[in-house]
Amino acid sequence: MWDGIIIGGGLAGLLAGIRAAERGKKVLIVSEGVGSLTYSSGVIDLGDAERLMNQKSHPYALLGERVVRSAAEYFQTLFPDYWGNWREPQFVLTPLGSPRKAGLIPRGLNTQALSETHKIILMALEGMKDFFPEVAKSNLLKAYPQAEVVLHPFRVEAFEAWYTLGKPITGMDCGKYWRTASGIETLKGVWKSLDSFEPDKAVVIFPGLTSVFSQPLREVQSNLPFSVIEMTAFPPSDGGYYLYRGLVQKFKALGGELLVGSGVKKVELKGKQCHKIIVNSKGKDSEFSARVFVLATGGIFGGGIEVTLEAAKEMVFGLPPFVPSGWTNSEFLGEQPYARMGVETDNQLRPIDSASKEVLLENVRIIGRMLAHWDPWVERCGGGVSLASGWFAGEQV
Ligand SMILES: Cc1cc2nc3c(=O)[nH]c(=O)nc-3n(C[C@H](O)[C@H](O)[C@H](O)COP(=O)(O)OP(=O)(O)OC[C@H]3O[C@@H](n4cnc5c(N)ncnc54)[C@H](O)[C@@H]3O)c2cc1C
Repeated sequence: MWDGIIIGGGLAGLLAGIRAAERGKKVLIVSEGVGSLTYSSGVIDLGDAERLMNQKSHPYALLGERVVRSAAEYFQTLFPDYWGNWREPQFVLTPLGSPRKAGLIPRGLNTQALSETHKIILMALEGMKDFFPEVAKSNLLKAYPQAEVVLHPFRVEAFEAWYTLGKPITGMDCGKYWRTASGIETLKGVWKSLDSFEPDKAVVIFPGLTSVFSQPLREVQSNLPFSVIEMTAFPPSDGGYYLYRGLVQKFKALGGELLVGSGVKKVELKGKQCHKIIVNSKGKDSEFSARVFVLATGGIFGGGIEVTLEAAKEMVFGLPPFVPSGWTNSEFLGEQPYARMGVETDNQLRPIDSASKEVLLENVRIIGRMLAHWDPWVERCGGGVSLASGWFAGEQV
């Protein structure tokens, strides 16, 4: 018998697992896939937390300030590479070179130095996919009008095979290469090539470089006479991938067990308690029992809620999701009501019946994108809700 079984190994499920395992609990995470972190920039968006805490039914309002703050602080204790605080927004650069608000950010993405500099050197690796140097330059000039922006195109021998085949170099290719021993040596040469630009008076922006969780890369950068600022990338993004890897390593180091590629297909309930889940892996069924179950299956995008023209269905426990009236907005980039679809809970994150507010399952907790009444795109709190609810569930296991 496990103390806790977490169904879904994305940001919310992994954080819940880490917190519970750290508290000495025997924890199993069962996950069909790797979650949406590998698509995300690796930045944790917390949104306007103080406003959202006062927004009726929002997960932040259910959980309260202590939980939101503790979860953000806990995450930073786990990963000191992340900078910022839950109350004040930081700014990071989008792949198009515009600053955008964010919550907790890898230190390499910190843009503070850009507001003070009079010279920005924008590194432009030849052949890089989804990076548009002229667009980025123009957006940087708009955002930091006090600075001149100098484009510095360069080519790297290690990518000769890409150039020969006419294959674009992805952000993942770059991120991986700069972390290797030969990538770090090449990087030192790239810094040297900037000597003629008087870089000590400049700030250097380097798309494709991701130093989070890489001690050697951080060391190389800390010895430079100028600041280097990294950029977020279009999905799939190596920043999100490295965060996923970091979370998995922490969870396993604490003794947690992770089964990836295993979907929960059936559950056994007795009254308001779940006793058992049945997991299908490689065509074979296995049963697992626990005291507490945490549902972290990622909502519509993660596969936790299936939507047809007729109905929406929660896929593991068959819980009735909250479905907003009028699912969509014909304005493509407008707020989409279906984003708020999810399972309603009490303030212990136990699923409730929307009408009667009665608790439906006493030993089940709902977290992350499975929760109702929030919208990660409009409220920009995708990572924040996953951290807060994941941390809280980890305390409950
Ligand atoms: C493209 C994209 C970019 C984003 N960018 C950002 C960003 O920059 N900053 C930010 O803060 N947020 C961002 N977000 C939002 C943020 O990533 C999510 O809100 C958050 O990670 C959701 O985490 P989760 O753990 O709830 O769900 P998920 O990450 O979706 O994880 C759910 C997991 O459950 C598994 N699962 C589903 N069904 C089952 C089953 N039956 N049995 C077992 N496992 C199952 C899935 O395979 C998956 O691994 C982005 C999201 C997307 C899609």
